[in-house]
Amino acid sequence: MTATRIDGKALAAEILAESAVRVSRLRAAGTIPGLAVVLVGEDPASKVYVKGKTAACEKAGLNSWLHTMPADTPQERLIAFVKQLNSDPAVHGILVQLPLPKGLDARAVIEAIDPAKDADGFNYVNVGALVVGEEAFYPCTPWGVMKMLEHEGVKVEGAHAVVIGRSTIVGKPMAMLLLNAGATVTVCHSKTQDLPGITRQGDILVAAVGRPRMVTADMVKPGAVVIDVGINRLPDGKLCGDVDTEGVSPVASRITPVPGGVGPMTIAMLVANTVTAAERRAGIGAPGSRIT
Ligand code: NDP
Repeated sequence: MTATRIDGKALAAEILAESAVRVSRLRAAGTIPGLAVVLVGEDPASKVYVKGKTAACEKAGLNSWLHTMPADTPQERLIAFVKQLNSDPAVHGILVQLPLPKGLDARAVIEAIDPAKDADGFNYVNVGALVVGEEAFYPCTPWGVMKMLEHEGVKVEGAHAVVIGRSTIVGKPMAMLLLNAGATVTVCHSKTQDLPGITRQGDILVAAVGRPRMVTADMVKPGAVVIDVGINRLPDGKLCGDVDTEGVSPVASRITPVPGGVGPMTIAMLVANTVTAAERRAGIGAPGSRIT
């Protein structure tokens, strides 16, 4: 068996094209969806990520604004700026790029974002809605993974899904989305005992750790669907995921590549969330509906 590669780039392009159609409808009704991205400091990886996000917005016909602030920006000034974006009618989605420089309280900044503009889905209101299984802005990376599974026709209900990683932005919301979709979910982390023994039980295995190629063939159940969220830069400058793709491919049924897997989906879902926010404000689409 050799695992089929799940083409995140192609699916992301489809979702961006769908978003573009929704944007045309909004424009015809007098609304141009807009995403405000706030980048504090000079983190090189963050600079690359925000560039990708604003470029995708422009491609789908949204407005996007990149606001850069110095690393020593005081907390109060950053929060005041977020509140200014909250009251700007041209802005439908707000994203504060994480991680923030040392000394800034990311949680306090995220909580300052109007939940109706929380395109990243990190605000307590959206996190709470996710936990109780209601419509919300879901965090873009795990939401993108769910879209991939759906597109691939992977049966989540009744499957045993194993998630490695318990971060607030990936692991926990990933586990919650899988649980809400009817999977039996096991969440592993750095304190987990016998990690391979648990991962080998996963019909769906999601790796969101940040350790290059740590998931090896002996950790994967034959026929499993393997989703590699990790983005790691190797000393030679190349990117790799958390999964040893070459080694795992003969064991798994499907696998996401890095790059070209989950990464593009994260951006596509951010655009989709912003469009949804604009539709809700414009009263287009059934209340609470989620087109993507
Ligand atoms: P964090 O560092 O916040 O979380 C990593 C998680 O992995 C933690 O829960 C940690 O456990 C767990 N972990 C660390 N070492 C081990 C180990 N040896 N065995 C089992 N679990 C372990 O990372 P993120 O969740 O933010 O990101 C994870 C990866 O995904 C990174 O490579 C990141 O770059 C990538 N990423 C990719 C995105 C995309 O669009 N494709 C978007 C966001 C992130 P503990 O909690 O106990 O410390």
